[in-house]
Amino acid sequence: MTISELRKKFISGEYTPMEAVAEAKAVISEKDGDIHAYLDVYDDAEEMAKEATARYQKEGGNTPPLCGVPLAIKNNILIAGKRATGASKILDNYIASYDATVIKRLRDAGAIFIGSTNMDEFAMGSSTENSAYGPTRNPIDQSRVPGGSSGGSAAAVAMSSVPAALGTDTGGSIRQPASYCGLVGLKPTYGAVSRYGLMAMGSSLDQAGTLTNSVEDAETLFNVIAGRDPHDMTTISGETYGVAPTKDTYTFGVPRAFLGQGVDADVMERFESHLDELRAAGHRIVDIELPLFEAGLAAYYIVMPAEVSSNLARFDGIRYGVRKEGKDLLETYLNSRADGFGAEAKRRILLGTYVLSSGYFDAYYGKAEALRGKMRDELNAAFAQVDLVVTPTAPTPAFKLGEKSDPLSMYRQDIFTVPVNLTGVPALSIPMGEVERDGVSLPTGVQYIAPHGGEARLFDIGRKVYDAKRYNNG
Ligand code: GLN
Repeated sequence: MTISELRKKFISGEYTPMEAVAEAKAVISEKDGDIHAYLDVYDDAEEMAKEATARYQKEGGNTPPLCGVPLAIKNNILIAGKRATGASKILDNYIASYDATVIKRLRDAGAIFIGSTNMDEFAMGSSTENSAYGPTRNPIDQSRVPGGSSGGSAAAVAMSSVPAALGTDTGGSIRQPASYCGLVGLKPTYGAVSRYGLMAMGSSLDQAGTLTNSVEDAETLFNVIAGRDPHDMTTISGETYGVAPTKDTYTFGVPRAFLGQGVDADVMERFESHLDELRAAGHRIVDIELPLFEAGLAAYYIVMPAEVSSNLARFDGIRYGVRKEGKDLLETYLNSRADGFGAEAKRRILLGTYVLSSGYFDAYYGKAEALRGKMRDELNAAFAQVDLVVTPTAPTPAFKLGEKSDPLSMYRQDIFTVPVNLTGVPALSIPMGEVERDGVSLPTGVQYIAPHGGEARLFDIGRKVYDAKRYNNG
């Protein structure tokens, strides 16, 4: 069910939040032994559901928009009193002492938190195999990954335990798992959603966003979590969202040369028929050039590790998290970090420390930041011509667990998503049809990229193209 369908049934009394929570828990106990979408399942959900059920009896449709709606939350987003590990051993014993702003807003809107979801350690990865607590499996084909790093959130929705989940996206971690699991994934404009209470990965790239079954639900959740927050000075106000007005028909730009970079033939075919559908609905498709986007992945793997190395410096075994004592303070730091971080986190800390070191700063970090500025200019020039840029979300459907043991082949999954984070614009991934692998039909995703603050445009086109088809609600 979607959030909007649930909400209607809650208001009519046909279904209650108590039943919804009981159902969510039943699905989790039936399926999560195999899927492992969740790290923790919360036992206070029933209490919250009882209150929500009573509220509907008294207030009906005057209840807040998410009253009684069960949600799953990625485990790098703090919920007061709950364990927040970032799927890292180094935070195994950490209990959050406050609510992230997004959690506070969801709570005020009446949402119920069912549990926290598995992820790649500190959100580093594209498969959820980098979790210290073991991988998550794709509910559509359990021999395959759900994508990452928000793979647990995607699997939680795809296995129908909850109608929606929160994830975070630093280089594609909401959109890519959405595409692997047949869901709608939204990465908002940088600054649209507060990062207060999110574990920082790459602070200039991170945004919390949504994994849902419909574009309408993505919009409902976005409207709740977005907006200025005095706790995060990079947040922007809602008024900024008028900048990309909605239209009856849109002009889409296809960066043809960029797409030449190793997309599976059948994924490309799905993409071409998606473009045909857009044309048939009266939209215009034009070719555009985004030559610098081809260097996006290279720039991302300089900027992101640099920020990671600095953000993860706080995990020293002294202030919080797991401590491994040594004979002196230095050895305690070394033991705690050597034991607490997994291989991918260590790789990125080393890479980041290297690119920030004095002899290399200008050659690597400085250049990558300069390139980022040029990419922004290039994209703005494209948006003078087109309303939206369109690409496949990922070059392949979900791959098998263990298939991408070489980190570089894993990194390539993000080729179309990282430029969006580097330039700070919003993007939406919606399902674009299935391709077959080993006799199983696997979903693929198409990514719409809008100008800065252009969420309204993404919701408008997403509803027209996806919700209208899937839910027949025009
Ligand atoms: N897969 C990308 C990475 O490994 C993106 C991760 C993310 O968006 N958190 O960095």
